[in-house]
Amino acid sequence: VSKGFRDVRNRFEGKREITEENVEDALKDIRMSMLEADVNFRITKNFIERVKEKALGEVVRVKAGDSEVTPGDHFIKICHDELEGLMGPVDTNITFQNPRIGPTKIMMVGLQGSGKTTTTAKLAKLCIDQHKKKPLLVGADVYRPAAIEQLRVLGQQLGVPVHAVEGGDPVQVCNDALKIAKEQECDVVIFDTAGRLAIDDVLMTELEKIVETTKPENIFLVVDAMIGQDAVNTAHEFNQRLEIDGFIMTKLDGDARGGAALSIKEVTGKPIKFIGVGEKVEALEPFRPEGFANRILGFGDVMGLMQKFEKTLSEEEAANAEKDAMRMLSGEFDFNDFYNQLQQMSKLGSMQELAEMMPFLGGSIPKDVSLDDHELVRIRAIIQSMTPKERTNPDLLTRQPSRVKRIAKGSAQDLKKVEQVLQQFNMMRAMMQQFSNFGGGFLNKIPGF
Ligand code: GDP
Ligand code: MG
Repeated sequence: VSKGFRDVRNRFEGKREITEENVEDALKDIRMSMLEADVNFRITKNFIERVKEKALGEVVRVKAGDSEVTPGDHFIKICHDELEGLMGPVDTNITFQNPRIGPTKIMMVGLQGSGKTTTTAKLAKLCIDQHKKKPLLVGADVYRPAAIEQLRVLGQQLGVPVHAVEGGDPVQVCNDALKIAKEQECDVVIFDTAGRLAIDDVLMTELEKIVETTKPENIFLVVDAMIGQDAVNTAHEFNQRLEIDGFIMTKLDGDARGGAALSIKEVTGKPIKFIGVGEKVEALEPFRPEGFANRILGFGDVMGLMQKFEKTLSEEEAANAEKDAMRMLSGEFDFNDFYNQLQQMSKLGSMQELAEMMPFLGGSIPKDVSLDDHELVRIRAIIQSMTPKERTNPDLLTRQPSRVKRIAKGSAQDLKKVEQVLQQFNMMRAMMQQFSNFGGGFLNKIPGF
């Protein structure tokens, strides 16, 4: 199984731009991910071509120093946006009838086991909770006693009435339900119709008769995400015979990623209305293209990811930090490094905590002088009073005490204070030189590296 965006991100790791070469590899990952998610081969192919075109068009933008977003992020976003576009326009509405004219009729159709009965109950709950409606459930699957019993149990659970006649005529059961709805003051009627294991003409004719007689405002096709590409043919036939208004994909709480929904949308031209994400009556969600796009691409939560990346170091900063670390590892350590280290540490948390985390620094601080933010300001002032030459050649200060006096004056600090900072610096440098003697592994433990 493809790991989706992790693979894609890895492809771009350390890359500073989107090029034809690294795009090819990433597109291969995306292609695999989509086919695994049951997206149709041809749709996948067209998608890949469009993404490639767009991604290569982005080269200039990324090069131009769009620092907080990496090429990998860009690529993922292009894929995501393109797929979101493929799934639109979004329409998760139920068409409600004017109550003065009569109840709203929702007809559920689909193969046996697709989730019609379960989804009937889920929609009833949604109508109650979100639209303040009073539904009536209708058992039009008259052939299987278990089906009617299942609907009764669900009706009881929701506290809604159920009309069903075992062995009755489905068309008449549905028609009678409209009268019953009026009597019981129900304003939504949901027909749970029969399914077959495969499409057959007898079933279709029966469903057509129900449509002719009751004229439902909403005909929803229920498809099981687990049947993958087969769902596309089913959807095509149901739509041709019944002119569905939209479809509901169920069992998306399992392993199926639901890519067939793209083909169904393309073949029928009808929107995905809801998705079923569990067996319970509340496990129904309106279709959201961004969530679905992530699911198909295996990207996880792309938006959360983007926000996270924005907060981390930019590529450039990261490259500089690495350069500094390498230089320090080679035993070089000057006041600029010292200053940067202190800056970075101050970003990370309280100076006291950090001093404790870094024994060599903590140890160099006399007990009565805590390394607080004031301390940082003082150290900053001292370093800023040094000439650039002094900062890069710290030994100048040890050799020429007059320089130290000048710095104390310039930074408005006691001479003692400046000497103390120099001492801290020397200890830190000594530590760095020790690290450089036994390799870099230890540096990873220090915040800021
Ligand atoms: P019907 O034959 O089309 O009426 O299908 P049912 O509503 O009886 O559902 C068939 C099976 O699928 C039942 O075991 C349901 O609990 C299960 N099911 C339906 N929708 C979902 C869903 O979204 N997620 C999961 N995990 N199971 C579902
Ligand atoms: Mg059923």
